[in-house]
Amino acid sequence: MLLIHPPQARNCEPPVALAHLAGALKAAGEPVTILDGALEGYIWLTGQPRFSEEDRQAARVFRKREKILTFPSAISSLDNYKRQVHEIKLLASSSRPVAERGIRLSPADYDDPSLNPLSSDDLIKSWSNPEENLYFPWFRERLDSLFRDKENHIVGLSLIYLSQALTGLAICGWIRKAFPHIRIQIGGGLINSWLKGPSDTSFLFSMADDVYGGKGEEAVVRFAGRTYKGSGRPWYGDLYDENSYLTPGRILPYSGSRGCSWKRCTFCSEKWEDNPYCETGAAAAVDDLISLSEQHSPALIHLCDSEISPLLMDEIVRRPPGPRWYGFSRFLPAMTDKAFCRNLAGSGCRMLCLGLESGDQQVLNSLKKGIRLDMVSIILENLKEAGISTFVYIMFGTPAERRDSAERTKDFVAAYSSYIDFLNVSIFNMPVNSEEAEGLESGFFYDGDLSLYREFAHPGGWNRVNIRNFLTKDFRSIREIRTILNRNLPVFTSNHAPFLAESVSLEN
Ligand code: SF4
Repeated sequence: MLLIHPPQARNCEPPVALAHLAGALKAAGEPVTILDGALEGYIWLTGQPRFSEEDRQAARVFRKREKILTFPSAISSLDNYKRQVHEIKLLASSSRPVAERGIRLSPADYDDPSLNPLSSDDLIKSWSNPEENLYFPWFRERLDSLFRDKENHIVGLSLIYLSQALTGLAICGWIRKAFPHIRIQIGGGLINSWLKGPSDTSFLFSMADDVYGGKGEEAVVRFAGRTYKGSGRPWYGDLYDENSYLTPGRILPYSGSRGCSWKRCTFCSEKWEDNPYCETGAAAAVDDLISLSEQHSPALIHLCDSEISPLLMDEIVRRPPGPRWYGFSRFLPAMTDKAFCRNLAGSGCRMLCLGLESGDQQVLNSLKKGIRLDMVSIILENLKEAGISTFVYIMFGTPAERRDSAERTKDFVAAYSSYIDFLNVSIFNMPVNSEEAEGLESGFFYDGDLSLYREFAHPGGWNRVNIRNFLTKDFRSIREIRTILNRNLPVFTSNHAPFLAESVSLEN
């Protein structure tokens, strides 16, 4: 079976979902090939002729292409790092195929001004006219060679991010046209969200032989005509040998669980999609991590769970897998214990991504975050003292927030800025299937019939314009906050942050 991760998605590590699907297929005896189009397609674009002969900067960057596509093993200077990422973007955006169509492209994103991935009409257009897709020359040639191999007569196409939708369905359409005997299954997180949303998704079912949402291991094995024999150990094929990912050090992605065991936060799609929570037992997960680390020698393990389970953390502390690791965690009560945090650091924990969302306790209560600010402040301090970097997520504009609560968030972040290494600031989007919207004036989809969010009139008038003004004029004006925000890494953000935390002093 051929598993395809279409362009464009962040290409600094192998696609973890496909590695898990491949593991289940291998366990069932099915031969597997993984095509990481997010990396291959992007690298192909960077090598295409330049759009303008006169563009000196593009020509200069193109001459250094090989060097620019290789990160040094340590990020020694934030300025040098940012310059390199800018040049990686320029390599693709100044290529003829991208520039002549006015497409905005980065290693993590794809924005075609003529097609909207949230419009079912545009997705159907992309599927019907694959020859018009930006990546067509690349995927035509690549699929030709892959389908010469008779083992690749079944395809699993994984759509996880919106930025993959147009090209993913163009690839699907091309396989239908050029290789009609090949059977195709479409799945992935984006498909799951669409299937669980209120939009009409019936068009997807005429594009492929099977469309599947949710945890896909069993479904993909059945589609391949095999008997499911368990999820097996994730399998990365020759992705590490054949591809050079855009990263300072090799990253091994791994998911110890799917869904979220908490699943109560009112702003989160995990709640509204009601995705089931399932986890690999902690001991089995650490066995996997130890074995995969021996096999692939990563510089860093990326735990891709929505929230790393406390049991898995305990087991990692008991049996550290070797390399440094990072991932998403809740603010756990256990972290109020300094010794626990020191043990986490001792197990290789380099960074934790933590959802704070608000510095106002009432807002946190209304979001059902299940955390207390007094606990958060102790945890931030303990993690810092233990040498674990923190990537803190905050969000403005939830229905319960008012301007004064946003001020309290600003004050909280400023007060604890010396314990916060990175900040992700976002504006709340109302999930399309959220019950929160009931009673609020809401309705229209943002951009298209497949939007996963809908507009709503904030009950306190705390709307996006006001929030943007607040962020620019008030939030950013605090020196300590600005220092953290200036440290944010473009494009690769948290995926590369542990490397920065490793090599640059993060004193505020
Ligand atoms: S803990 Fe995280 S993943 Fe779980 S419901 Fe809350 S925001 Fe979503």
